[in-house]
Amino acid sequence: MLHYNWRGKMIAYDLICSNGHLFECWFKDSASFEEQQSAGIINCPVCDDTRVVKTFSPFMIKKNDGERKKGEGVALQALQLIHEYVDKHFEDVGAKFADEAIRIHNGEAERRNIRGTATTEEEVILKEEGVQFLKVPIVKRLLN
Ligand SMILES: [Zn+2]
Repeated sequence: MLHYNWRGKMIAYDLICSNGHLFECWFKDSASFEEQQSAGIINCPVCDDTRVVKTFSPFMIKKNDGERKKGEGVALQALQLIHEYVDKHFEDVGAKFADEAIRIHNGEAERRNIRGTATTEEEVILKEEGVQFLKVPIVKRLLN
């Protein structure tokens, strides 16, 4: 979320570090955020990571076109961080995702974080079984 404090003209950004921690930070303006970000002096309060980006803000897409493009870039960047996090911490089980998720859910397989793909039919089965999962849109690595 993007908040404005009109008296002090401070802007708060929700930020996300490359380890996936969300936190809020206040800045004088967006330029001073970018300055501090490129200088690498914004630290994640959880893990001290300085690879920090703004998270997707619903406010930003409601503005004019230029602002909207900026918002989309930020959304992509945040998504990319999520993908990097999942890459690092989740075991890739590919197309066997639904089978494996149900096995873990039933205690037939070791409890761990997995990632993979599922068909629409499989998603329905997972929901019926009460298996919790999160769908993340796949983004092309446009950044960096
Ligand atoms: Zn962190």
